[in-house]
Amino acid sequence: MPAPLSQIETSSDLPDRADAVVIGGGIVGAFAAYYLTMRGLSVALVEKGRIGAEQSSRNWGWCRQQNRDARELPIATKSLELWERFGAESGENTGFSRCGLLYLSNDGRELEGWARWCEFARTAGVTTRMLDATEVTRRGAATGRTWKGGAFAPTDGIADPANAAPAVARAIISRGSTVHQMCAARGLETQGGRISAVVTERGVIRTKVAILAGGAWSSSFCRQVGIRLPLASIRSSILSVSQGAKGLPDAMHTSAVSVTKRSDGGYTLAISGRGRVDPTAQQLRFAAQFLPMFLRRWRSLLPGGLEGVRSGHETLDRWRLDRPTPMERVRILDPTPDRSTIQLTHRRALELLPALGETKITAAWAGYIDSTPDGVPVVGEASSLPGLILAAGFSGHGFGIGPGSGHLVADIVTGAAPIVDPKPYRPDRFAGIAVGKVADF
Ligand SMILES: Cc1cc2nc3c(=O)[nH]c(=O)nc-3n(C[C@H](O)[C@H](O)[C@H](O)COP(=O)(O)OP(=O)(O)OC[C@H]3O[C@@H](n4cnc5c(N)ncnc54)[C@H](O)[C@@H]3O)c2cc1C
Repeated sequence: MPAPLSQIETSSDLPDRADAVVIGGGIVGAFAAYYLTMRGLSVALVEKGRIGAEQSSRNWGWCRQQNRDARELPIATKSLELWERFGAESGENTGFSRCGLLYLSNDGRELEGWARWCEFARTAGVTTRMLDATEVTRRGAATGRTWKGGAFAPTDGIADPANAAPAVARAIISRGSTVHQMCAARGLETQGGRISAVVTERGVIRTKVAILAGGAWSSSFCRQVGIRLPLASIRSSILSVSQGAKGLPDAMHTSAVSVTKRSDGGYTLAISGRGRVDPTAQQLRFAAQFLPMFLRRWRSLLPGGLEGVRSGHETLDRWRLDRPTPMERVRILDPTPDRSTIQLTHRRALELLPALGETKITAAWAGYIDSTPDGVPVVGEASSLPGLILAAGFSGHGFGIGPGSGHLVADIVTGAAPIVDPKPYRPDRFAGIAVGKVADF
């Protein structure tokens, strides 16, 4: 069973022209199209498969500030406000709620790290606090264990990965822009050195602005227009269980396993940071820049197989604009979940939370997380191609910060004051071999 996803109906009639074309209908592309539409631009959003069908429906749904890298904290804070505001202004339900995130630990070093982060977060005005043994054991009563300490982020929350991107797409359509599924963008046309059109499998859309929000496909797409975007994807496997477990927190993290309530009353179970690296030609190409990241995370990353080569999302091939591309061959990137990870996750979850014994596994799936060398996304205009805005490499955090990232794209396109300082997300920071500090997962 794949990850659950609400299906929406969209138009098969492409416009001849648009003020902006968004390539990719995940949460980032959807929010970018939404905020551009809200500023009065006509937008066409093209998605090669179904809205939300790749990473944006396959994640845990966490929208967190807790333990965020300093470079991402401002956009995480703004995004929480935007998740709330989107629901109120659009009438659409993304399942967002500030349910609070609970972290439990018996490891002194881990607790020290959380405490340091809480100190830093206070200076940024973020409400989050450490829990002593009594309080954490009370909040984590569903585990039936005592805990040394923990952290609680009361203003953080979760949204529903099965519904969020489709809800934003509906809001785009009802405000007059267009959304087109089963419509891959094959490439870009330029005139006078800047974007003049997006070429899709169903025709050409004239535009001066293209936003590439293609997730794990973004680097191979950039390669077609001579832009070097170092990305590597990590295959992360998770599962869901049915409703029936009583007394569990809505969102709870331990180093062994993390648990999140789903909108159908069931739970998503996952092991934070664990994933498989399926080697591809693209990964070899960028290997030097990813070395610091892999060295830092080698304990949780396992070697994978040929799945990534077969999927084609990290191909080094150049494709023609008048022939089907790898994106039309693989409409939805649906990697095989890692069976040993799924078994381990389920076993750990049952050990940690006995109430889960009342539930049944309903689905297991994997998603390719598009990571940058420093674990911080790329959001900004490509310096070599004016009119092309890149919004990719969300490194496992893009669902929560989707609204802020979409808003930032709209700020860049319209020349408005940016919602957050865009400097940490500059695309050209990877121009040399050196990489900044690697962010935590
Ligand atoms: C298992 C897992 C757990 C995660 N947990 C969390 C979490 O709890 N919190 C969090 O914040 N983040 C989490 N993430 C990360 C988060 O899901 C992603 O960062 C986020 O969804 C990225 O959104 P996106 O729109 O950039 O990419 P995607 O959702 O991958 O969307 C990209 C879309 O672009 C389309 N596309 C690509 N190329 C083209 C083209 N040329 N033409 C047309 N369409 C194209 C693709 O079909 C795809 O639908 C998790 C990810 C995984 C896999």
